[in-house]
Amino acid sequence: MTADAAASSAATAGSAASPQRTRVVIVGAGPAGLTVANILRGASVDCVVLETESREFIEQRPRAGFLEEWAVRALEGRGLADRLLANAGVHTECEFRLAGERHRFPYADVSGHRHYVYPQPLLVTDLVREYADVRGGDIRFGVRDVEPDGIDTDRPWVTYTDARTGERVRVDCEFIAGCDGARGVTHTRMPPEHVTVARHDLGVGWLALLAEAPPSSDCVVLGIHPRGFAGHMARSPQVTRYYLECPPGDDPENWPYERVWAELHERLAADGAPPLIEGPLIEKRVLAMHNYVVEPMAYGRLFLAGDSAHLLAPIGAKGMNLAIHDALLLADALVAYCGKDDDSGLRGYSAACLRRVWQYQEFSQWLSEVFHGTSSGDPFRAGTSVARLRRALVSPAAAIGFAELFMGKDTDY
Ligand code: FAD
Repeated sequence: MTADAAASSAATAGSAASPQRTRVVIVGAGPAGLTVANILRGASVDCVVLETESREFIEQRPRAGFLEEWAVRALEGRGLADRLLANAGVHTECEFRLAGERHRFPYADVSGHRHYVYPQPLLVTDLVREYADVRGGDIRFGVRDVEPDGIDTDRPWVTYTDARTGERVRVDCEFIAGCDGARGVTHTRMPPEHVTVARHDLGVGWLALLAEAPPSSDCVVLGIHPRGFAGHMARSPQVTRYYLECPPGDDPENWPYERVWAELHERLAADGAPPLIEGPLIEKRVLAMHNYVVEPMAYGRLFLAGDSAHLLAPIGAKGMNLAIHDALLLADALVAYCGKDDDSGLRGYSAACLRRVWQYQEFSQWLSEVFHGTSSGDPFRAGTSVARLRRALVSPAAAIGFAELFMGKDTDY
C-alpha cells in the first residue's frame, strides 16, 4: 500500500468507535522502526508503522553515515542490504592528527572488520521502499499526537490524529515497538518507578556541518587540537561531514563560512596532509553532546528500540548501529512469539540489548576523553588523554581492544 493510500484508509477505517487491529504497532520510521517492520512483514506478522514526518522528509534527513560490518551482514541476511552493498564505500582505516603529525590506524587489519559508508537517508529510503512498496507494508506518515496506551495489559493500543482529516484513529495491538527516537513519546510513557534513566553530559558542544565538497581524505580524520576537536567524515563523493568542538549551546550563527573553514584548516593541519577542499555549508547545527540509557528497555507490552532507549553523541558513529542491533533482536523476539508462542526472546530482550549498549556507551566516553582532553584547559586531562591515544596507536594489545570496540565486534561481554 502506498503511504497516501495507507493514510486515507487509516482515516476512513479507523476511529475511536471502530478501532483497527494489528499485532504490532511500530512508532517511528527511522532505522530501528523500519528494520523491525521489514522483518515482521517478511515473517507475515501483521504490523502498522506510524511516523510523524512525511516520507520525503525522512528520506532526506541527514544524520549518520557509518555502518559496522556486523550490522551490514545482519541486514544482508534479511534481504535488506542489496542497494547498500552495491553503493556503499568501504573504509578500513582512520587517521588521528595530533601535534601536527598524522597517525593512520588500520582498524580492519587489527579487527578483521570494516566500516560501510552509507548515508542514513539512503538506508531509510531503501527500508521504506522495501517495506511499503515491495513487501506491501502499512505505513502512515504525518500522524499527530501519537499516544500509546494500555501497555501493562495484553491488549495495548495506540491512538493518533490523522493530519488531513483531523480524526482520531485507534489501533489495537498486542505489542508496541517504541522506535520514535530521542524526541519521541514512547519512552516517556514508561512508568518512572519501573525505569532508570542514566544520563551523562560530555560537557562540550559539537558544531555539525555538511559541506557540499568532496572528501579531503580517503578515511575518517580525527583532529586532536588545543583549540578543540575537529572531525572529517566522507558521506558521498560530493558531500562531506565535518565536526568542530564548540562551547555547549553555542549559536550556529557564530560560525560563518570563513570562521568554520579557518578552524577546520587549523585543527586538522598536519605535515604532508592533503589540503581541505572547501565548499558551501548545507547543514550547520550545534549538537548537545549527551548520552542516556533507559533501563530496562521494556515495560509490559512496550518495547523500546534505538534512540528512544539510548542516546549516544555521535562520537564513534554508534547510534544507528545500536538502533539496528535492537531492531534485529526485537523483531526476532516478536516473530518467535507470534509464530511459536515462544516468549523467551521478549523476556530477555532488554538485557540482551543493554550489554552492547553499555559497551558502546563506555567506548564513547573513552573516545570523548581522547577527543576533548587536549582542549579541556586542564593540563592533567590533556596529558592522560594523549597517553591514552598513544597507547592505542603503539601497543598491539591496546590497538586490538580499541579496534574491536570501534567495529562493534564481540561486544556482548
Ligand atoms: P530516529 O532515526 O530518530 O527515528 C525515529 C523516527 O520516529 C523519526 O523518523 C521521527 O520522525 C519519528 N517520530 C518521533 N516522534 C514520533 C512520534 N511521537 N510518533 C511517531 N513517530 C515519531 N549513528 C551512527 O551509527 N553512525 C554515525 O555516523 C552517526 N552520525 C550521526 C550524526 C549526527 C549529526 C546525528 C544527529 C546522529 C548521528 N548518528 C550516527 C546517530 C543516528 O543518526 C541515530 O542513532 C539513529 O537515527 C537512531 O535511529 P532510530 O530509528 O532509533 O531513531
